[in-house]
Amino acid sequence: MITGIAQKNQTKNLTFPLFSDAIPSGCDMPSAWQRQLANAVRDPLELIRLLELPPAPWVSREAAQSFSTLVTQSYLARMRKADWSDPLLRQVLPLTEELISIADYGVDPVGDQHALVSEGVLHKYYNRVLLVTTGACAIHCRYCFRRHFPYSEATASRNHWQAAWDYLAAHPEVDEVILSGGDPLVLSDQRLFDLCHKLETIKHLKRIRIHSRLPIVLPERIDESFINGLQALQLQLVLVVHANHAQELEGEAIATAFQRLRRSGVILLNQSVLLRGVNDSVVALKALSEALIAHSILPYYLHYLDKVQGAAHFALPLVEAQQLIRQLRSQISGYLVPELVVEEAGKPAKTPIPTGD
Ligand SMILES: *Cc1c(COP(=O)(O)O)cnc(C)c1O
Ligand code: SF4
Repeated sequence: MITGIAQKNQTKNLTFPLFSDAIPSGCDMPSAWQRQLANAVRDPLELIRLLELPPAPWVSREAAQSFSTLVTQSYLARMRKADWSDPLLRQVLPLTEELISIADYGVDPVGDQHALVSEGVLHKYYNRVLLVTTGACAIHCRYCFRRHFPYSEATASRNHWQAAWDYLAAHPEVDEVILSGGDPLVLSDQRLFDLCHKLETIKHLKRIRIHSRLPIVLPERIDESFINGLQALQLQLVLVVHANHAQELEGEAIATAFQRLRRSGVILLNQSVLLRGVNDSVVALKALSEALIAHSILPYYLHYLDKVQGAAHFALPLVEAQQLIRQLRSQISGYLVPELVVEEAGKPAKTPIPTGD
């Protein structure tokens, strides 16, 4: 079902304004994690060189032009050397295959453009609103459904936050605000917690939920200053991290980050994406759930891949996904089995995929 070469700039009409443009930035000295982020690997050939791999025709600088390479040193350190099939490397390495255009694979598979109700505000589901706080991430995952959104080119003026605020105030059914992006933990503590404290003035909110991959890919982000900020919040806090493989949870820095988070009392959940060549086996999924619970993180969702251009090589047939979950359920505790879901545009929630018994 190959239909030709993916067109560049297909998305040039889409703009995705950022909510945090409303929040003035501080001018503090960069912290250790911010310096690490500045030193992240941004070139695919440099990435493979650091892993002692030779240049190869399937590594594509061209694919990295439309969606750039970005990997933290911390995440890189958890990859195995000289191994093309390393499950962490597979998630970040730009491949020639990404340039092949596949029918059914679009640029906005989850209908985010239609759920935009105000600057940086997505209201898709009844009681919860998602704020696009930044376009930036600490890593670029090749399967990401946001890979075609020019979040970072957003042109929103800094004056539009009042509209977002008015929207939240006018919707008393919204009891939870989700900070997303990009990745909200890329924001400085000052920006992040200013935003949280502003949210705390909206009386009908009960919880703030943060969706972030930084605790996994840049665990140094969870420093004492961040924990102090968390502990000063009045609203209940849920942190949904994003790990796809047990190997991502190895090492001292991860252990320290999750110890600190546990101490702060935040509720910890994980979402994963089911990915061919990364976690498409019962052994891998079981090891992931076990590694998560060892750090007091509960598996939440296992997302069936969104059909986004450039990610087709990560796809699994639905029957295979269903069978994996059935097998997983027969081997581990019920609360360690994530819910297999798919995101369908226009639905009132994520759609659970029935897996039978
Ligand atoms: C996924 C998503 C949510 C959260 O859904 P849950 O099922 O509560 O995790 C909320 N808003 C938007 C726009 C989303 O895409
Ligand atoms: S961290 Fe999340 S939003 Fe950022 S590229 Fe990866 S999957 Fe996409």
